[in-house]
Amino acid sequence: MKLGIKLLVASFLILNTSPAQAAPIYNFPISGCAVTYGKYHHDYPATDIFANKGCAFVAPIAGVIDEVNTVDRWRGRTNLGADRGGLSISLIGEDGLRYYGSHLSKIEPNITAGYKVTSGEKLGEVGATGSAKGTKPHLHFGISYPTEKGIWWIRRGVGLENGKTSPWKYLKAWQAGKDLKPKLIIPATTPPEPKK
Ligand SMILES: [Zn+2]
Repeated sequence: MKLGIKLLVASFLILNTSPAQAAPIYNFPISGCAVTYGKYHHDYPATDIFANKGCAFVAPIAGVIDEVNTVDRWRGRTNLGADRGGLSISLIGEDGLRYYGSHLSKIEPNITAGYKVTSGEKLGEVGATGSAKGTKPHLHFGISYPTEKGIWWIRRGVGLENGKTSPWKYLKAWQAGKDLKPKLIIPATTPPEPKK
């Protein structure tokens, strides 16, 4: 009996001396699936994260949902910039930056503009909507700064650090469990809508 109590006390001490594990600020935006992604992205800095259709797209940080596009309006003939993302979600993180995921196959019903999310909360599922139609399912992931609604050319992702860096380095850090805040220089005025 005495030994039992001693063991109980000992295990209690061990449990209480381990350092508190703070919840991560940043989470890798795809959960529970194998992924592949590289440094390169066509035309502008962003990262395409390849994963199977249906894999969970999760909030990379706690924040507030900004814009949600639940209808795939993209047509190859018009290829409008605003439609290229297909089903897409952007959120303003508690770090003040905007995070955007697109080409989704599904958006969770509770994910609407103004909804507060926790880091790692499921937002939707990986797919190939918008201009990704006919390609391998992937999450187009972009980091930017908040703007007015509909400024798709900023929302899709801007260069980090020196203005040329993609989210790749940050994704690698989050995947390894490190909280690394993206460095982003916000221009004084929003650049005009580009040709492509
Ligand atoms: Zn992309």
